[in-house]
Amino acid sequence: MDTFIEDLLIQQLQIVSFHCLKYEDNKWHTCSKIGEKSCDEINGELCDNLTEIRFDAFSNKIRVRNILEIDSGDISSLINKRLISNVLTLKIWDQTISIDQLKLIGSFVKICEFFDVSVKSNKQNDASLAEIIQCFPMLEDFTLSGSSISVNISSKTVKELLKIPHFSKIKYFFLQNISDKFDIEEFYNSFLKKNKTMDVKLSFDSNISETFKQKLSTIVNEILESETTDFWPPMFYGKFGEIKNKLSDARVRYCQIKQ
Ligand SMILES: [Zn+2]
Repeated sequence: MDTFIEDLLIQQLQIVSFHCLKYEDNKWHTCSKIGEKSCDEINGELCDNLTEIRFDAFSNKIRVRNILEIDSGDISSLINKRLISNVLTLKIWDQTISIDQLKLIGSFVKICEFFDVSVKSNKQNDASLAEIIQCFPMLEDFTLSGSSISVNISSKTVKELLKIPHFSKIKYFFLQNISDKFDIEEFYNSFLKKNKTMDVKLSFDSNISETFKQKLSTIVNEILESETTDFWPPMFYGKFGEIKNKLSDARVRYCQIKQ
């Protein structure tokens, strides 16, 4: 073990601070910034040159200040019992995680990226998107992507999201593989049409119905025909032809005017 960590443990600190922490290949890795003062540079980026650290070699609580990355594997023992999270950036790949674990991690998270992540509200049920967003009161940048998103999207998703006070503070919001249960008309009329500050990118599942494609097309046409710059046009991705390029132009126009 690093002699610096040994020093901290000898001092019998109850909590040892880490800057970056990454779980990969069933092992924890950390950067060289260990101890409260060396962790002050919070930039949300993973440092280079991570080395393995064995948390079973000592029993202190572990505070993570900068970034936590989890790439599959079982993280329960550390997260549930020992982690104190001041994490700015949270990235998770290929993992099933519970809402309770996200609450433990999420208080300071501003950047959250999930790739093929399944979030459970209890043993049986998938958490709703709103339940996930509620774990991150400081959230600014949210990406939910993967080959198949197991997060619950229902006809209630939009209403639930819009009820969350901090939802409108998000600056970047990207969802992938959205099903046609998503109430796109409600999202457009109640939120997108007034939105000036959130970069919204929605990528729709390839199996969405013709009716849903028609709804998307109506929204896109309304945005384009109005030529408005009163709100930030969203980006829609999916298999529906020309929509993407047309929205791109409208988005560029909005961003130029707002600069
Ligand atoms: Zn670091």
